[in-house]
Order: sequence, then structure tokens, then C-alpha cells
Amino acid sequence: VAKRLEKFKTTIFTQMSTLAIKHGAINLGQGFPNFDGPEFVKEAAIQAVKEGKNQYARGFGVPDLNSSIAARFKKDTGLDVDPEKEVTVTSGCTEAIAATMLGLINPGDEVILFAPFYDSYEATLSMAGAKIKAITLRPPDFSVPLNELKSAVTKDTRAILINTPHNPTGKMFSREELEFIATLCKENDVLAFTDEVYDKLAFEADHISLASLPGMYERTVTLNSLGKTFSLTGWKIGWAIAPPHLTWGVRQAHAFLTFATSTPMQWAASVALQAPESYYEELKRDYKVKKAILVDGLKAAGFIVYPSSGTYFVMVDHTPFGFENDIAFCEYLIKEVGVVAIPPSVFYLNPEEGKNLVRFTFCKDEGTLRAAVDRMKEKL
Ligand code: GLN
Repeated sequence: VAKRLEKFKTTIFTQMSTLAIKHGAINLGQGFPNFDGPEFVKEAAIQAVKEGKNQYARGFGVPDLNSSIAARFKKDTGLDVDPEKEVTVTSGCTEAIAATMLGLINPGDEVILFAPFYDSYEATLSMAGAKIKAITLRPPDFSVPLNELKSAVTKDTRAILINTPHNPTGKMFSREELEFIATLCKENDVLAFTDEVYDKLAFEADHISLASLPGMYERTVTLNSLGKTFSLTGWKIGWAIAPPHLTWGVRQAHAFLTFATSTPMQWAASVALQAPESYYEELKRDYKVKKAILVDGLKAAGFIVYPSSGTYFVMVDHTPFGFENDIAFCEYLIKEVGVVAIPPSVFYLNPEEGKNLVRFTFCKDEGTLRAAVDRMKEKL
């Protein structure tokens, strides 16, 4: 394997889902719903296939989808973006992340991100040859250490990467934190990349897009996708929204990574994004019930549960059970309790920082969540 990828192992999500199947354990690890996406979106996909929308799509997205993305962004942020020049459709947000790094970061550029971080950030930054600086968000509230962040910015800093609502902690960046980041970006001529794939799963606070802050749109790439909001993680439809000069970089990388994204799924995604507000309200209502089952159960089982405001994840501290680290705890949980979770130490540059933590997801049907909670209450 090439040096730029040498340090990376099989992703923790793949490892844990494989173990779940091998041990017949309940999978509260990898974040994918065990229920299906909405009928009207599936029907739209079938219709698109039957209508013969099956050849390569326009590289940066089928026009209808670019327009639907721009319309939703306008509804969410109040910003007017040109669907033809400022929206790029990618194969999932993971590709949008890669295209952003590869299209806008030069070897040696510094990029600041927040640990714990989604694993693809580090790997794609490594592919781009970036120098990574991680600022650690610490429990119980995972708030941004503002002074640490400020002193991390140097003349070589090219971008700050944020993720709100935040995987794996469920933290949502507050307006004050976002304003602080915005000021740093503007004063030091730094770009902002913001992964907002959980924006519709904001339970305790309103989601704020960094791009909507004064003077930020022109230096921000906003990344999002269909998967979480429509429970269709396997469709791999994502997008990047950015002003034309940044979009150009993203599109050049995208053109040579995948060239274009699945045509019929893009047509269906466009239909999905035209869903009425009631769709999102119902989604949130359902997830609130699921979240309560998991959070109450984890507390009853004896974990220290940290508050999660958004995403479908909850972070807990497993130290009451006396294990050496997150890996040892998760192994026991799979083999002896029959539940899979994610050990988050891989989401830190220094794994020690995550060794007391474990991430659980509640994107599962209520019966599955109850069964997992019962096992933990009984066997931990
Ligand atoms: N985003 C999902 C999670 O955090 C997993 C994505 C993946 O498997 N790469 O669980």
C-alpha cells in the first residue's frame, strides 16, 4: 500500500459490522438504519430506471438535483446559490470530502480539524499531503477550546474543517463557537469546510450552517448528503456547495475520482429533497423516541452518558465497568453481551484521548434498541 495510506487499517465501521455478523450481536456500531427509506423516494428511483435515465449523468449533477439542492439550501440558510456553478453532486458525502481535500489542499498545507473526527477526514487529508492539526473536544460537553484553536492557526493554515452536528459525539457547534471560527477564518484568510450530513437530526438546538455567517459563504465549502436524512445510506448521493472559485477545485477532483454519480438515484434524490417540512418533522419525532430508549437504557446499564444534541449517536464513558480501554470494552461487549458499539480511539491522532469512550447509534428500530438495552442491563 502507498505510504500515504500506510497507517490506516480496515475502517473501524467495517471491522465492527463484520464482528456483529460473526457473533450474531446487535449492531449499534456503524451508523446505518435497519429500516428502509421512504416509499415515495424508492418509487422515484424505480421510475427513473424504467424511464431510461441510465447513462452517465452530467459530471457535476443532473440539473434537477442541482436545483433541488440549491432550493433546500436556500430554505435552510437563506443563501441564494447558483445550482449550475456552485453545487456539485458526488457519490456520497465521503466523496465530496475527498474531492474537497484533493481539489483545494496543496501538499504541506495545514488543515485544522476537531478530534474525535470521522475517519475519512484524516485519510483524505493524508492523500492530499496535508499537515493535520487536531484540536480535541473534551467531555462532558465537547466544547471548542477557543484559545487552543486560535493558537493552532499559522500562516500555513489553509482550512478549518468542522462537522456539525458532530459525529461521534452528538455535539452541535454553538453560534458563539461558529462566530469564533468565522472570525479566525476571515482574519487569517483561511477556508472552512463544513460537513453537515446530520443537519436534519438536530434535537436540542437549531442547526446553524457556517456558510450563513457574515462573510463566510465566499470561503466555505458546505458538504451534505441524502443518506442520513432519508435513511438511504447505501445510495451514496452527496454534494458540495461552494462559491464558483472553490467549486472549480472540488469539480476538478470529482471529475477524475468518479466523473459522475449514479443517474437514476440522482433523479430520485431530487424528488426526495422536495419533501414537505412534515417529512423532516416526522423523522425527528421518530428519532427522539429511539434516542430516549437508548439513552435511558445506557444510563440504567451503568454508563456515564454524555449529552448528545444532534446526529444519531451517543457517546458514553465505560470506565464504571473497569476495562483498560475502548477496544477491550467493545470486545467484551460483543462476545459476552452481544452488542456492537464503536471504540472511538481511532478518531483521535492520539488514541489515548478516546480510550474511556464508546459510541452507540440509535438509528435502529425500537425493538432492536430495546433488545440491546436489555442485554446490557442484564449482562454488564
Ligand atoms: N458515517 C457512518 C458512521 O459514522 C459510517 C460510514 C462508514 O461506514 N464509512 O457510523
